Amino acid sequence: MMIGDSYNRREGIDTSKFGVDPSLPTEEASPDVDISGNSERVSGRAYRCKKCQRVVALQENIVDHVPGEGETSFGWHKRKGDNPFNKCDEVECTSIFVEPLRWMTTVEEGALEGKLSCVHCEACLGYFNWSGIQCSCGGWITPAFQLHKRLVDISTV
Ligand SMILES: [Zn+2]
Ligand SMILES: [Zn+2]
Repeated sequence: MMIGDSYNRREGIDTSKFGVDPSLPTEEASPDVDISGNSERVSGRAYRCKKCQRVVALQENIVDHVPGEGETSFGWHKRKGDNPFNKCDEVECTSIFVEPLRWMTTVEEGALEGKLSCVHCEACLGYFNWSGIQCSCGGWITPAFQLHKRLVDISTV
């Protein structure tokens, strides 16, 4: 049985391993952070709930996966003939996968799988499953915290 390392059936979820909620104020405000002179913030992208614009993930929260790498590849995304600009070898991921974050209350409550809803407006943004979810490209992500691209806005920080 494949479950995530952070999940412990008896003790529940270790939320200390969760990523910081990106929309909450962080230790950035602290005056003694900048000792190393490293003032450059990681430039990257922010992912916001499309409905209420709350930041739900940052570039650094994204868990990369190799497109198409999976146990089985479904044929449904390779329908040919529908699209005149069909690029045969390119499979597009319709989801992004992130590390577990503090706003994911369903995850904190100890569920093994379920919906990921925006804490602000409760819009459903995706799903999570500690046993893994298959991306549209065919790749498996385990454990998986999936956000649908069409439900989030991507902006640069
Ligand atoms: Zn993918
Ligand atoms: Zn929202």
